[in-house]
Amino acid sequence: MIVKGNLKVGGALYQFEADEKEDLLAILKVVGIVNIRQECNICNKGTPEDFQFYAYKKSSDKGEFIFVKVRCTCGAVSSLGQYKSGGYYWKDFEEFKSKGGKENQTKSTDDF
Ligand SMILES: [Zn+2]
Repeated sequence: MIVKGNLKVGGALYQFEADEKEDLLAILKVVGIVNIRQECNICNKGTPEDFQFYAYKKSSDKGEFIFVKVRCTCGAVSSLGQYKSGGYYWKDFEEFKSKGGKENQTKSTDDF
């Protein structure tokens, strides 16, 4: 069974498709991705129209990890989580906190 889903984020339309022998498995994959939070729980103003979709890959000692997120105009970020048993879900928005004095690094770069 092929299941297709559309997700509109920040004015762009993303299409997701899963092709699985088991019908429920195809539904499980797509429904979790397209069921994005309809409102930012931090500012209570942001809607998917205001969100920015982005993804990146990070390497560490434990391997390579891909992160899929949406950012609200208030700066809060919601991440796509993955159940160990399969399927996806969107986490609550969290306020963005820079780690390791990233802000200071940016400032010193600006000084050059
Ligand atoms: Zn927000």
